Amino acid sequence: MSRFRMYPTSEQAEQMLLHCAHARYVWNLAVEQHVCWRPGRRSAPGFAEQCRQLTEARRDNDWLRAGNADVQQQALQDFARARNARFTSGFGEPTWRRKHVHEGFRVIGTDRVPEFEADGSPKLNARGRQVMGRLVVVQRLNRRWARVKMPGCGWVRFRLTRAELPVAKTFRVTFHNQQWHIAFAVIPEPLPAPDTGEVVGIDRGVKITAALSDGRKLNCPQLTTRERAQIRKHQRRAARAPKGSARKQAEYAKMARLKGREADRRKDWCEKTSTMLARTCRLIRFEKLNIRNMIASAKGTIEQPGRNVRQKAGLNRSILAQGWGLLRRRTGEKAPGRVEDVPAPYTSLRCSACGWIEKDSRKSQAEFICVSCGFTCNADENAAVNVAAGQGGIPRPRRAAGAGGVTAAANRSSAREPQPVRVEIPFLKEGRMSKALGFAEYDHPVRAHGGARP
Ligand SMILES: [Zn+2]
Repeated sequence: MSRFRMYPTSEQAEQMLLHCAHARYVWNLAVEQHVCWRPGRRSAPGFAEQCRQLTEARRDNDWLRAGNADVQQQALQDFARARNARFTSGFGEPTWRRKHVHEGFRVIGTDRVPEFEADGSPKLNARGRQVMGRLVVVQRLNRRWARVKMPGCGWVRFRLTRAELPVAKTFRVTFHNQQWHIAFAVIPEPLPAPDTGEVVGIDRGVKITAALSDGRKLNCPQLTTRERAQIRKHQRRAARAPKGSARKQAEYAKMARLKGREADRRKDWCEKTSTMLARTCRLIRFEKLNIRNMIASAKGTIEQPGRNVRQKAGLNRSILAQGWGLLRRRTGEKAPGRVEDVPAPYTSLRCSACGWIEKDSRKSQAEFICVSCGFTCNADENAAVNVAAGQGGIPRPRRAAGAGGVTAAANRSSAREPQPVRVEIPFLKEGRMSKALGFAEYDHPVRAHGGARP
């Protein structure tokens, strides 16, 4: 994928927002058809049937007919693709798209070009004619700017931040945080592996985002103290503004800008770091984290409320602010076949010199002194070396467990990862705004009947 920032004029932006609305409407209709399916009923319509229904809907519906048919059909195509990949993509069943949150649409190129097989011979269809493929119309304006043909908008300019013009059959346009982006559907070549490269292990943490087994410590940039204070200020002002007022909206917009900046920084860091890893390391090992389980809420239910709920919410926010998942995913995409996942248990408690696993070896967040051999190291680096070696290991047998006998655990096992005691200061008290901005808020459990919050 090659993605660029797009700069439409205000009329073009208006038209493009309409495309977004149409695509979202069609997508949600498709979701609805599939959500209603129950075992025993006829299967929900597939892509071809949905396209026929779309044509009918366009005939009956003026608003839909005013939109671009290709944009609407591509939304169905996207849906079909998402649904076919629901078991492999990691995203599951396609779900609803919301206004202001999932703004985007796909456009198929308008140029017709003959297609060829991999060996250079013309690609033929069943009748023996050459297959004509689609191509996006792109023009370079100068060294830094290019433009693309957009249905209903004419030429739209985008900032060309790569050496060559992208060649693609389709592209996707998104609108997020008041910014338009265009992403051409191109799968780039994987980065070549270095000839002499080490195996590198990566330990991801909250304090140090990525500790490498060669001793490097990489940190994902976050908002500065000043920016956090600004967010709090706007949040406070928004809370005091009358409900539904323009002032409240303006304050929310300012908060959105700041939070968008944080997400941009995180994404930029993940991209640069994953490229660096893919270029310089032969084999990259990550510890296997189930981030979804790690950020599970501590809230509990009304009958059994959880403990330390705010602290856990803060920790969850710090976990999400690290971009662990994105770093792993992008590294895997840039270096396919060269990334491995290592089971995570005990990587932070195992001595990388002698292999002894004991809780007491980890003196503090940063300090590791092996109780068995006296090896001293930074705790994150020690964990990263364990990951690079490909093992966390199994806990040593309890001393009390004699031959053949099983002793009940008197106390907690000493081979237990240190539990969080205190976390970084959460800078946002209530997550209402973050939800509106697409920042997932994980500390409310989903309630089936909208019961009162405790
Ligand atoms: Zn040791």
